[in-house]
Amino acid sequence: MNDHPTATIRLQQASKTYPSLGEPFTALHPLTLAITKGEFVAVVGASGSGKSTLLNLLAGIDRPSAGEVWVGGQALHRLNEAQLSAWRGRGVGIVFQFFQLLPGLTAAENVMLPMDFCRQWPAAERRDRALALLARLGVADQADKFPAALSGGQQQRVAVARALANSPAVLLADEPTGNLDSHNASALLDIFAALVRDEGLTVVMVTHERAALRQATRRITLLDGRVIADEPQAGPHAEPRPHHHEALAHA
Ligand code: ADP
Ligand code: MG
Repeated sequence: MNDHPTATIRLQQASKTYPSLGEPFTALHPLTLAITKGEFVAVVGASGSGKSTLLNLLAGIDRPSAGEVWVGGQALHRLNEAQLSAWRGRGVGIVFQFFQLLPGLTAAENVMLPMDFCRQWPAAERRDRALALLARLGVADQADKFPAALSGGQQQRVAVARALANSPAVLLADEPTGNLDSHNASALLDIFAALVRDEGLTVVMVTHERAALRQATRRITLLDGRVIADEPQAGPHAEPRPHHHEALAHA
């Protein structure tokens, strides 16, 4: 039944096809894949290769046209829209390229919002939990500011705190560093790596960032809706290695 009992994420011949005027367009060809707790997966590939399509299936934002999508023991392909959105509230945390904080709420209120929806924590504890998450992300001092008063890097940290609000087992991020300068991008990747290492979080991240490939434990490459490579990466514990050409120059 389940070939990968330890897998947090499992796709079984999952595909996504969009209707179009001519032939239906296949954004993701049938894909079978398992991702285990504590993996930090970087999904790479050219624009239009199906990265967001894959992530949206894992997030329950989209449903597969065929096949199975399992996340944290939940069969997403069997849920209807209402069940998917209820599941999404605590099953996964999602981080976007453009942060998507609510402008009318403070940082702390943005982090409390998913807790207010899911009611896993009593109302009286939610602000303290939000402040603890903001502290974990290094932005405790920004708690009572509105998003417009924060830098991009600070906004994305608040967005990560919000994604972790209901303590999901899986964090999904679609180009989370795409709108950050290199300093903030690398700080965010360090935070992801620490969450994976220290808290056993599973991260699946779409990225163009070369630095991300140093932190990730696995790299999945998509081309035209197919996985063309699926390779282990050194991961966050690895020592920096000299570039190939440098090694040659010194040989
Ligand atoms: P990536 O994130 O790798 O840039 P996407 O997963 O967003 O790629 O898109 C993969 C392909 O599917 C693209 O050719 C895109 O145009 C197409 N696509 C994505 N969403 C839709 C949609 N709602 N309707 C039709 N085609 C879509
Ligand atoms: Mg995309």
